[in-house]
Amino acid sequence: MPKEITYCPYCGGLLTRRHAEGRERLVCTQCDAIYYQNPLPAATALVLNGANQLLLGKRAVDPARGEWCLPGGFIEMGETMEEASLRELREETGLEGRVMSFVGCFYQNSATYGGVIIFGYRVEAGGSTPRAADDMEEVAFFDLHSLPHVAFEAHRKLIAALKEQVPTQ
Ligand SMILES: [Zn+2]
Repeated sequence: MPKEITYCPYCGGLLTRRHAEGRERLVCTQCDAIYYQNPLPAATALVLNGANQLLLGKRAVDPARGEWCLPGGFIEMGETMEEASLRELREETGLEGRVMSFVGCFYQNSATYGGVIIFGYRVEAGGSTPRAADDMEEVAFFDLHSLPHVAFEAHRKLIAALKEQVPTQ
């Protein structure tokens, strides 16, 4: 279960579950503010090298520690989805990239965050070698058609969408 919030972020009053605006929501018992719960937006970068290999990172942190996934993370306030995908790529792999095209966007339930919406962009990254940093303990390119298990359902769907968009040699 995702972490539950107990107190109103505006006045510190206790939150209670009750029907409001069409569904059960957390509502403040003191100031009546509704605490809206929405899926969190995240962005990923799908980087292919010249040999049609896809860049993946092995996660150094939970959730899915030790599993492979796309470089990516939560979008910061004031940042576009494209900027977030390039920033996360830089933070986790050291690569500077350029967004080429939109690959897709998928929703998934998350045990940690409740729900996450994950945008994916095809990114061209220069000739430099990726180095694992931040949330990644290892980064590597894998043949697009023989990838290791990828941790998140939305990442797997993005990779499937990428395969449809990339011409097979
Ligand atoms: Zn309140």
